[in-house]
Amino acid sequence: MGTLGEKMSGIGMTSARTRARMVERLREQGIRDEVVLSAINAVPRHIFVDEALAIRAYEDTPLPIGSGQTISQPWVVARMTELARNGRDLERVLEVGTGCGYQAAVLAQFAGEVYTVERIAALVAKARRNLLALKLKNVRLKHGDGSADLGEDLVVDAIVVTAGATHVPTALLKYLKPGGRMVLPLTSHGEHGDGVQRLTVIEAGPTAYREQAFDAVRFVPLLSGLA
Ligand code: SAH
Repeated sequence: MGTLGEKMSGIGMTSARTRARMVERLREQGIRDEVVLSAINAVPRHIFVDEALAIRAYEDTPLPIGSGQTISQPWVVARMTELARNGRDLERVLEVGTGCGYQAAVLAQFAGEVYTVERIAALVAKARRNLLALKLKNVRLKHGDGSADLGEDLVVDAIVVTAGATHVPTALLKYLKPGGRMVLPLTSHGEHGDGVQRLTVIEAGPTAYREQAFDAVRFVPLLSGLA
């Protein structure tokens, strides 16, 4: 396996066109936010996967990243980012589920600061290498459990949870600014639930949290505790 530097100068240079085509497909699939589309266009997704999979990096598919986890499908990353932004500038964003760091790198293209939390130590290390290779200075990584209180003073415009939850991680809602949004894959259970996992937005309104469900998706589960 080559170094990240080799990966970037090798297929990195020739992949710009492939990536532009991927962005065109995302546009055709209904992604409208130009800020999101140009952020995706700016991030070389192939450096976030193993060299053997790099050739598939611009297909609209999730790919394995080790530790039994996956890098999210580009359309899903685009859609979650679009829902999180909702046309606003984002000063600070919290991501739960760093994985290999791809979503964090996309957010870092336009957000002031990205704070990302991952429960699996091996993936924190992997994400750190990937983000360093891109020289992103506005991403802070933490080995932590984002299903619970992070024990920090934090104020964010948006929270992007990139692992599937069966209930809203309410311990994080206090970090949202008024009008701020949490986006997460949420499975609705119970009397009114249909058991389908959907991208869901929780918005911090003036008096209450407003919940709205969007596209059906499939994510690896949000787990608790460190690994
Ligand atoms: N954001 C990644 C997707 C990673 S997959 C991307 O850009 O492709 C989801 C990740 O969430 C996995 O790495 C998993 O380990 C992590 N995860 C699951 N539960 C978590 C928790 N409670 N806290 C932090 N990370 C968690």
